[in-house]
Amino acid sequence: MTIEIKTRVREEFVDITGDVQRLARAAGVEKGLALVYSPHTTAGITINESFDPDVQRDMIAHLNKMVPPGSSVHHAEGNSDAHIKTSLVGSSCTVPIIGGGLALGRWQGIYFCEFDGPRSRQVLVHIV
Ligand code: ZN
Repeated sequence: MTIEIKTRVREEFVDITGDVQRLARAAGVEKGLALVYSPHTTAGITINESFDPDVQRDMIAHLNKMVPPGSSVHHAEGNSDAHIKTSLVGSSCTVPIIGGGLALGRWQGIYFCEFDGPRSRQVLVHIV
């Protein structure tokens, strides 16, 4: 199953929790796993707080301090910071399914992490 995403700015965390939850419930699996995967080299997946959007803003700000845009040394495309940030957050997450739905913590959300937008993106979701 695929979630289509259009990002609007260069760096953005998109909350995809509701989409993944719908796919998990529609799969009719009582107890299993949801694999959420980004098939991109400049966009990743992470789980973090979904209550206060300032957490995502701070995560992007801190990633930019760690790996500033324009920090490519060799890569001619000039977007090495986006590649490095993608490796830092990772390309996937796996969430347990219990009782037919995602067993996320109360404050947790699943985020698609854009680091080189705006672009059209895809997230693959496999329920097992
Ligand atoms: Zn590149």
